[in-house]
Amino acid sequence: MTIPDKIIMKTQADQNTKTSTENIFLSTIKGIFAVSLVAVFTATLFTTWPSTGISLPFQPESEQARFPALSPTPDSAFHVGIVVGHWGHDSGAICPDSLGGHREVDINYNVAELTRQLLQSEGVEVDLLKEYDDQLNEYMANALISIHADTCQYLPNEASGFKIAETVENKRPEQAARLTACMKNRYANATALSFIDQTTVDMTSYHAFKEVHPNTPAVIIETGFMNQDRILLTKEPDKVAQGIAEGILCFLNREEISPGQ
Ligand SMILES: [Zn+2]
Repeated sequence: MTIPDKIIMKTQADQNTKTSTENIFLSTIKGIFAVSLVAVFTATLFTTWPSTGISLPFQPESEQARFPALSPTPDSAFHVGIVVGHWGHDSGAICPDSLGGHREVDINYNVAELTRQLLQSEGVEVDLLKEYDDQLNEYMANALISIHADTCQYLPNEASGFKIAETVENKRPEQAARLTACMKNRYANATALSFIDQTTVDMTSYHAFKEVHPNTPAVIIETGFMNQDRILLTKEPDKVAQGIAEGILCFLNREEISPGQ
């Protein structure tokens, strides 16, 4: 509080010595300055926000944001969060030694790191997040994806495949739906796994969906079964990462989604 007091005292002392002509001159300068500020602010407002006026800077609708390669300034880059399933918390599912002894968290981390590299090579800024990362609270990004893998138990009726669930708490359900559609299409193409249309309560009530900012489209993917899809998940993680990265890019770049692609 000492600094503002000193400033006020100095200003008052100065004003006592001013003539009325100087005061009028100062008022005019202040007036011009205030008008200029309003003009600059208004201009910024209309050039930054799309005509709808409801989009936030992170939304991919703006032309600058849609084509980061053409405008590689940090402000216009896409921003994506990847939650590494179970990282920093527990090991997730574990395979018996007879099936390689793999831990889900290791599979998830490997895939997430490869996905991060692929997205960054396309100019996307990526946060690699822990399962219960503090950053998830009100997290804002163009998209958030949480990477998990399914059980290592042998399930004869669910031989193989991937699952995706999206946040239902999102204020922009059409964005989350589109992210899901892109992920389904691109992931199936890259991995040749089929989509299993049965999401579990664990997926739909996923904790991060409630934590992120309601404008952030969020999905969780079960990349495959650690039992029947083990070869893909552990020996070909580049295909898994490619499917996820291409799904995210499909969403960010508003690419066409055609089933046969
Ligand atoms: Zn998991």
